[in-house]
Amino acid sequence: MIRFEAVDKFFGSFQVLKKISLEVALGERVVVCGPSGSGKSTLIRCINGLEQHESGTLSVEGTKLGHDHASLNKVRSSVGMVFQQFNLFPHLTAIENLMLGPVRARKLPREEARDLAQRYLERVRIPEQADKYPRQLSGGQQQRVAIARSLCMEPRIMLFDEPTSALDPEMINEVLDVMTELAESGMTMICVTHEMGFARRVADKMVFMDHGEIVEEAGPETFFNTPKSRRCQDFLQKIL
Ligand code: ATP
Ligand code: MG
Repeated sequence: MIRFEAVDKFFGSFQVLKKISLEVALGERVVVCGPSGSGKSTLIRCINGLEQHESGTLSVEGTKLGHDHASLNKVRSSVGMVFQQFNLFPHLTAIENLMLGPVRARKLPREEARDLAQRYLERVRIPEQADKYPRQLSGGQQQRVAIARSLCMEPRIMLFDEPTSALDPEMINEVLDVMTELAESGMTMICVTHEMGFARRVADKMVFMDHGEIVEEAGPETFFNTPKSRRCQDFLQKIL
């Protein structure tokens, strides 16, 4: 469903992704980890066209990502993304943040969008926060609003880029719990995270990146117990 074949990407003369090949199947949960600057964010940003690759092919549900708007729009309509910084609209309440996409992009009538939004706020367990503005919410609550906002677009694939790394420790679990439930519901997910407890619980596949390359790709058992490369062993030793 997502397929990278020998994908290269440059920022100027700096090669940020080197011959990336990766397949993610329908319903698969992939966790990407690796040192700062290794290209993790760039990798997942390519999947919804926030970054464009220079060579190789990248396809999402059979649509090749090119430089045309048609392929971009098609892919973006099925891919949701959650960032480290929640990126909520500060002048809109939680529920208005959720309603915006369904009303503007999916052309749902406001009342229908409100019902949909309320259902997703329940799903992330903050139905009572609907009318608060982002600044009135904790970090964990804001991130759950951001996840619910993405889900309101009914994506078939969800990308997470270090969704808990801006949170105070006591709020990390409430966000990971929501992500775990989403994983268990069968959503195709690619998560950049260093939360290895979460990774062990939900990942079907672990990917370790370093210097723009996928150095290791394995099931969680193998990945955590018998990492092959020195670079991966060193990395795991530092974070576990
Ligand atoms: P982190 O763990 O710190 O989030 P990362 O693995 O997500 O790191 P990326 O953000 O993908 O890494 O960046 C990979 C490399 O590309 C880094 O060296 C970074 O400085 C560089 N880079 C990222 N975005 C740009 C950009 N827009 N222009 C130029 N260089 C960039
Ligand atoms: Mg990053």
